[in-house]
Amino acid sequence: MPEKDQNFQKGPDVRGNMVKVNIDGDTMFVDANQYQPQVEHAKRLLRQKKLPKNPKPKEWQAKDYSLNKIADYKPFNFVDGEGVRCSLYVSGCLFDCPGCYNLAAQNFNYGVPYTKELEDQIIEDLGQSYVQGLTLLGGEPFMNTEVCLSIVDRIRKEFGHTKDIWSWSGYTWDELQKETDDKLELLSKIDILVDGRFMEAQKDLTLQFRGSSNQRIIDVPKSLKAGKPIIWDKLVR
Ligand code: SF4
Repeated sequence: MPEKDQNFQKGPDVRGNMVKVNIDGDTMFVDANQYQPQVEHAKRLLRQKKLPKNPKPKEWQAKDYSLNKIADYKPFNFVDGEGVRCSLYVSGCLFDCPGCYNLAAQNFNYGVPYTKELEDQIIEDLGQSYVQGLTLLGGEPFMNTEVCLSIVDRIRKEFGHTKDIWSWSGYTWDELQKETDDKLELLSKIDILVDGRFMEAQKDLTLQFRGSSNQRIIDVPKSLKAGKPIIWDKLVR
């Protein structure tokens, strides 16, 4: 039998005021008297060191992952873009941004199936004169193109361009240019793209409609015409 380690002790590893903790596989010592705030601080630092995933062009295809599920639908809100909006949260995202605002919706199997009834409800809600448009979020709308193209095409059929369509995406504008036809089709049919992963190290809660300063609010029709991303002209900050 091996000799017992002289430093062996039962229970937590405590050295003076310091206690050893394991956070996401990394071990570190924190002051036992400041346990909670120090653990929270350590978690935040670790999240800042980790980065979201970076797919190669066309590596992630909606047809291979999407289950056409919806994490949530919020009609008549003021936070997901300009004016009063109806927001559709699709399920499934592979970017795995540390600090993601909607962890549950990263799962492609989360929520409920997208149905004709829900689509009819969205169209009815958008029909209210005070509603400016639809917002697609997630999860990742560009990994759920079947659902998103279905509602986008229906909106154009029922309302033309009198309602606008915003979409958030973990993909950047430049990445989307090298993507599959379904992603390019969705991009070509929306008005505003808020692009890029959420980066914890660049988090800034004072920004308009974005969580981190790397993300941009892009005017899609103008950008497609110019062949480069053009920032939304109503951007304040
Ligand atoms: S892209 Fe958005 S939904 Fe996907 S992991 Fe990042 S923050 Fe979460």
